[in-house]
Amino acid sequence: MSAYRCVICHYETDRPAPKELGACRGNTDRFRARLHHLWKCPRCRSIHNVDPVDFKDIYTDYPLNKRRLDIYARGTLGNLLRRLRRAGLTRQASILDYGCGNGVFIEYLKRNGYAQVAGYDPFVEAYATMPQGRFDCVVVNDVIEHVADPREVIRACAGLISPNGLLYVGTPDSEPVDMANLEPHLMRLHQPFHRVIITEATLGTLAKVTGFELVRAYRRSYMDTWIPFSNYRFLDEFSRALDHDLDRMLQPSAAKILLRRPRLWFYAYFGYFLPSTFEPAVILRRPALASGEHR
Ligand SMILES: [Zn+2]
Repeated sequence: MSAYRCVICHYETDRPAPKELGACRGNTDRFRARLHHLWKCPRCRSIHNVDPVDFKDIYTDYPLNKRRLDIYARGTLGNLLRRLRRAGLTRQASILDYGCGNGVFIEYLKRNGYAQVAGYDPFVEAYATMPQGRFDCVVVNDVIEHVADPREVIRACAGLISPNGLLYVGTPDSEPVDMANLEPHLMRLHQPFHRVIITEATLGTLAKVTGFELVRAYRRSYMDTWIPFSNYRFLDEFSRALDHDLDRMLQPSAAKILLRRPRLWFYAYFGYFLPSTFEPAVILRRPALASGEHR
């Protein structure tokens, strides 16, 4: 097998072109001092972390698992829920948040009257057991970029959905990332946690393989709303102001930076209109059973 192999399109090479290679620092306290090595597949433009990884080890004390249901989370998760409701989600639906982290979206759903909500996350003790059965809706948001094989996770999640049920998949976009200048993208690259970052077109291709009906495709991130502070551009600028240190960003005292960087207020209110990146998502519906077919 070649040294560089794309898990998405199966292109492989032993001698990648220099423009396909890059290295960047992480955006967490633990990984910011190390260089992480990335390769962009010239055929499908997926970005791969090519360093060896021990998943269990890197998710020990993962900063995003300290995320709280604060004003920012309520704004952005509210937008995610609106997308699902528009696709037909009701409060009676059984929902699985696959790769749920510390369960912040589960908490948000419960507070909003959704009672049948479960989560799965192999690296969080409370959610480490995969719930049994099928679901009316499976949410796989900001997850497929964290795994070794995104296609495999989409396939597995599609198998968990009841007839007429919904599958939501959202992920960052690798398309505009210039491998020679990775610094502006440190938040989206989120090394070494993001293993494979795909393009919007690849997400469409992987969605098609499920055989499900495409209900809706989004280009903008669910984190992009008109609510002040709840937009991706603000988050990007906030990250930059804190030297792309996610641990610092998650501290309550991080907001003090707003006093020193008045520019951030501009992005808090108008960032929606000045997007710095996209985060494509698809909502798919599993077809109803044909007569005589079994679940
Ligand atoms: Zn590829």
